[in-house]
Amino acid sequence: MNNTKIDSKPTEEVLASTDVLVVGAGIIGLAHAAIAHQAGFSVTVIERDHRAIGASIRNFGHACITAQHGELYDLAQAGRRHWLDFASKAGFWALEAGALVVAATELELQLLREFSASRPVGQVRVLDAEEVRAKLGRENTDGIRGGAFLADDLRVDPRTTVGTLASWLDRQENAEVHFNTAAVDFTFGTTRRARVKTSRGIYETDHVFICVGHDVDYLFPEVALEHKITRCSLQMAAAAAPESTTIIPAVLTATSMLRYDAFTRMPSAPRLRIHMESQRPDLLDIGANVMFTQRPDGTMLLGDSHSYELTQPPFLSESTTDTLLDAAAKVLDVERFTLTERWQGIYASSDVAPLLVKEISESVTLVSVTSGIGMTVSFGLAEANLNAMLPAGASRRSTSQVS
Ligand SMILES: Cc1cc2nc3c(=O)[nH]c(=O)nc-3n(C[C@H](O)[C@H](O)[C@H](O)COP(=O)(O)OP(=O)(O)OC[C@H]3O[C@@H](n4cnc5c(N)ncnc54)[C@H](O)[C@@H]3O)c2cc1C
Repeated sequence: MNNTKIDSKPTEEVLASTDVLVVGAGIIGLAHAAIAHQAGFSVTVIERDHRAIGASIRNFGHACITAQHGELYDLAQAGRRHWLDFASKAGFWALEAGALVVAATELELQLLREFSASRPVGQVRVLDAEEVRAKLGRENTDGIRGGAFLADDLRVDPRTTVGTLASWLDRQENAEVHFNTAAVDFTFGTTRRARVKTSRGIYETDHVFICVGHDVDYLFPEVALEHKITRCSLQMAAAAAPESTTIIPAVLTATSMLRYDAFTRMPSAPRLRIHMESQRPDLLDIGANVMFTQRPDGTMLLGDSHSYELTQPPFLSESTTDTLLDAAAKVLDVERFTLTERWQGIYASSDVAPLLVKEISESVTLVSVTSGIGMTVSFGLAEANLNAMLPAGASRRSTSQVS
């Protein structure tokens, strides 16, 4: 084990040497660090900010496992137990809450029936209107035709999870998290070890995972161009829970059925899109995924819209907020929400592939989730990337497969 921390020094000095260096203390970086540490590697995380304030704290905290398809589903399921395991070790809030998909029409319910039939028994349970009402704590079922309960989904509190995980990691032997330290350059030459130049000095490492979220183009513009990475901006809001409502699962709606792969593959999906195009073009215009979750303190997290641009303007549109909140208020049968906060979230997006895992060199791997499901796939992706790294690093460590 080799993990030496030295306080701020002139920038050409070697500050630290570690088996695995992770750049970025968002959930993707921390998941790689946590899994690498668990596998016996010494780990250092560097983060440019004084604390992580990227996509990982701005989201719904929903591990949207069940609605994924193919490789993403496998990664999401593989990461599930790690979420629960690290929640218990690090002491952050995580709930086997499941997700509730609310169907307002027979067509939406039909799609959910198809989805349920496509999955193992019990994973997707179709609900009648009364059962949906009970899960939402609603008084009446107007506007609800039925729904489905997705049992495997998890929830964490996005505001506190990465902060708690980073502090816990920093307290472990052979693990450190260095804030206010920005990676600026990566060199890898005749030796296997990579040298990472940062705003504070040089770090040497056997392997570096670069997990900088949507800022891939700042460090590797040519990779960002090749992978067609752009920035997706989302509008979000927080509100006090209406009349002390407690809603355990993450709540999804028809617009969610148009977004997640597992739904869009169902036979009724094309008809649902056509229906939404004619009935709710305002929601489609803002790329809405009308959904919400509830934080442990009862605050509702409400969202979200999607707009795509390489550089995102920081300004929030009131009409987008209104459209989203009206739609969410209908689901909960409330007149309007009392908002406490609004914010913009940004994540990396690409039409080329939902994930970017690029070997820049034998010792440098660039990782970005380019599909807005980083919370969902984080730990599964980290495990897969660590396993892919191990054969090349067989001389480094006797560790067998990461699990
Ligand atoms: C509004 C919103 C809602 C979402 N909802 C969900 C959801 O419910 N479920 C889900 O699965 N996903 C959701 N997502 C997507 C998810 O939040 C992201 O995919 C995930 O957080 C990305 O994690 P990350 O670690 O790659 O990025 P970030 O959390 O953005 O972290 C990247 C970190 O890298 C640091 N960094 C950047 N450059 C450098 C550098 N040069 N040196 C050092 N540090 C650097 C940044 O400061 C930052 O802290 C949502 C996203 C948004 C915005």
